[in-house]
Amino acid sequence: ETVIVLLNRDLRVHDHPALAEACSRARAVVPLFVVDLAIRGRHRAGFLAEALDDLRSSLRDRGGDLVVRYGDPVAEAVRLAGELPAEAIWASADVSAFARRRERRLAEACAVRRLDFRLFPGLTIVPPGELMPIGGDHYRVFTPYWRAWSATRHRPVLEAPSLVTLPEGIDPGTPPVPTSPPYGDLRGGETVARRRLELWTKLCLADYAEGHDALAEDQTSMLSPYLRFGCVSPSEVAARAGDHPGAEDFVRQLCWRDFFYQVALAFPDLPRRDYRPRRTGWNDDEDAAEAWRQGMTGVPIVDAGMRQLQALGWMHNRARMIVGSFLTKRLNIHWRVGGEHFAELLLDGDIPSNWGNWQWVAGTGNDTRPNRVLNPLRQARRFDADGTYVRRYVPELAALPAPLIHEPWRASPPVPGYPAPLVPYWTMDR
Ligand code: FAD
Repeated sequence: ETVIVLLNRDLRVHDHPALAEACSRARAVVPLFVVDLAIRGRHRAGFLAEALDDLRSSLRDRGGDLVVRYGDPVAEAVRLAGELPAEAIWASADVSAFARRRERRLAEACAVRRLDFRLFPGLTIVPPGELMPIGGDHYRVFTPYWRAWSATRHRPVLEAPSLVTLPEGIDPGTPPVPTSPPYGDLRGGETVARRRLELWTKLCLADYAEGHDALAEDQTSMLSPYLRFGCVSPSEVAARAGDHPGAEDFVRQLCWRDFFYQVALAFPDLPRRDYRPRRTGWNDDEDAAEAWRQGMTGVPIVDAGMRQLQALGWMHNRARMIVGSFLTKRLNIHWRVGGEHFAELLLDGDIPSNWGNWQWVAGTGNDTRPNRVLNPLRQARRFDADGTYVRRYVPELAALPAPLIHEPWRASPPVPGYPAPLVPYWTMDR
């Protein structure tokens, strides 16, 4: 039997259930990636190209190769199955409405051609939909989900296959050329992801519970882009971290990821719909939205976050909450405006985590505390007390001492080139 493993957001050889099963069962295995040139996200294309390059090396080391085609993944996978011929197309199950439409098309195309089509777990730790509250279709609130998630048995982590046997004579095709990304040190690929996981758990995990909210410290794992592309499996991250003391706070964050995946599965229109419409309505102010995108709101902690996003294609979670709350609760601009910008720039931008978190920040989702408003000044004083984070990303303010750096409107003379705040400063300290 020849099995095509259609890869998508699972660009790894370790702990890959579909690949592991194919390699243990089939005579020949075709790890196939179809490059969809319509992929959005300015920063993600380079990261993806690096991840594919790295995966190709790992597969070659095991006697196989990464087979690359361009176009529509369903059409290309089915075409390749006809050419080889292959008897099966397997993939990792995804949750977004977009991904599920593709899975349905693939299932139908396989049924017509009598190909074996199967979906495997691997994108999350607990498969979305596996845990259900009594009388409900999914968990709406995190804490009960966390309880159920912690009590359930997790799938064991799988070894990488030692041998990948390609069918003879197959043209592997050419992956996209990695462009060198100008964004920090976040290079794509499983090798980098595994190294980061190992070093970070060894050196930084012990400080995570205490330090993960400190904006300037870089205490968090920065594994999110690797999880986004599946360069490392969340199950393996949880298992590795779980071996270290003090891992619970970190594992809880991985559970948040699973939580939003099961929300996205239950609510296919998560990126669009306000589940809890706001009585006050939304402000359609494009100039303010653009100032927010550019990191020119006049509120240093907000601008630092937005500029970190531009510089790295990544933003600290605390900053994401601050800028999100500022946009939706103070500028009263719709969360979709924020989510679209994040989706465009984030290396880790994915549908469940991005839109689930935006609905959470805006208070329009399932959450039990929709009226939470973050106070940007209090947040700044607490999580960037000496102003290091602001100084790093908003250089115009670098000469201001703390705490003035968080309230430049009090500086005399005013800081040249830095705008006055978009909302009255006296409303901010509430
Ligand atoms: P760590 O603190 O090291 O956490 C480990 C992992 O846990 C992360 O890599 C991530 O996979 C997961 N995680 C942590 N917090 C969350 C969370 N709140 N929700 C879901 N998963 C979480 N995360 C994304 O991966 N993609 C997004 O598109 C995304 N958009 C967001 C939008 C907003 C408005 C907010 C407030 C948060 C968003 N997050 C998103 C969640 C979170 O900010 C990032 O996952 C985190 O900052 C990534 O950094 P890290 O890997 O160092 O995290």
